[in-house]
Amino acid sequence: MDATFVNEKELKKMDPVFGQLSFNDHEQIVFCNDKDTGLKAIIGIHNSVMGPALGGTRMFNYNSEWDALNDVLRLSRGMTYKSAITGLNIGGGKAVIIGDAKTQKTPELMKKFGEFVHSLSGRYITAEDVGMETSDMDLVRDVTPYVTGISESRGGSGNPSPVTAYGVYMGMKAAAKSQFGSDSLAGKKILVQGIGHVGEALVDYLAKEDALVTIADINKQKLEEVSAKYSAQIYTGADLFDADIDIYAPCAMGATINDDTVYRINAKVIAGAANNQLADENVHGAILQERGITYAPDFLINAGGIINVYAELVHYDKAEIIRRTENIYNTTLEIIDYATKKGITTHQAALETAQNRINLRKLENSRLKS
Ligand code: NAD
Repeated sequence: MDATFVNEKELKKMDPVFGQLSFNDHEQIVFCNDKDTGLKAIIGIHNSVMGPALGGTRMFNYNSEWDALNDVLRLSRGMTYKSAITGLNIGGGKAVIIGDAKTQKTPELMKKFGEFVHSLSGRYITAEDVGMETSDMDLVRDVTPYVTGISESRGGSGNPSPVTAYGVYMGMKAAAKSQFGSDSLAGKKILVQGIGHVGEALVDYLAKEDALVTIADINKQKLEEVSAKYSAQIYTGADLFDADIDIYAPCAMGATINDDTVYRINAKVIAGAANNQLADENVHGAILQERGITYAPDFLINAGGIINVYAELVHYDKAEIIRRTENIYNTTLEIIDYATKKGITTHQAALETAQNRINLRKLENSRLKS
């Protein structure tokens, strides 16, 4: 997952929680353990200045608990900035469940997880992420109201992935406009890595625009299905980063732009759904900039899903959700423009913009208190 780039020996040398590389003044970290169901989970509440912490739950077979902790720290921080840059009145949090979603996820485990979420009295509100389905959120809903992304039949908004894909598509078009002078993706060679919930929906948009789509995934059966459905080419080379492409869309796991790949990527635009694409946001963001590659910040362009589930908490209006998600196009252009003017990376520009909003809200909150 996102944490695979971290040198485990280095991690272990640090203090267990507050001294972690990815610890970023998180407000609260909750370790959840239940022997009967085998649940081992970590809930990370990064920042609640803008509101209660909202973010999905990921179930993954981490190599170690260090990886799981590092992942939840990075992901929850990303949620704070994602919601802030999107203008949502919500804070950032995330949860990880340690285990194989295919073999270790049971209804009892999901409900027990829900009880832990409930114990936080709404400070953290969950949703689905990798390894989770809408039906899992329904199980969580049986024990707590602090969950989004539940079935439409139960008053929820269902799977957020199609909206996420639409936002990624908008962000990709904006980045293409900045890099190539036109936002048309027709004829562009685009590699989509990971054709799960979001990746497949993205392929659909790209195929409709006559882009030349190549797909890669570890799931061979899914590759065959998606290839046949959208006439997409399956990547057959030995190494994805040798591919001759215009646009790279990481839609699987994080940290794919790392020391090993950052100088080899042939694409001129990077725009995808995966969270935390840059293994080290400062180092790798700057190298992409030097290489003239337009990087559409992940937490900005993959915000469609959070826009969708957030609406469940306030007022669910599909037209408003689409409008907000479409606006990712304009925000991406603004961020690229701001980064160019300030001579900083697009990732830094997006972080700065989000942080400014949080600082402003903090000031307002303290004025209201006094
Ligand atoms: P998913 O689990 O449905 O799909 C992930 C796909 O990636 C699967 O098909 C899997 O086989 C594939 N994959 C895993 N490891 C791979 C590898 N090494 N190489 C190639 N393919 C690999 O997940 P999703 O919901 O589509 O989310 C994809 C990414 O987008 C995740 O990083 C997630 O955190 C992020 N994201 C998702 C949403 C959402 O609404 N679902 C919102 C924001 C961000």
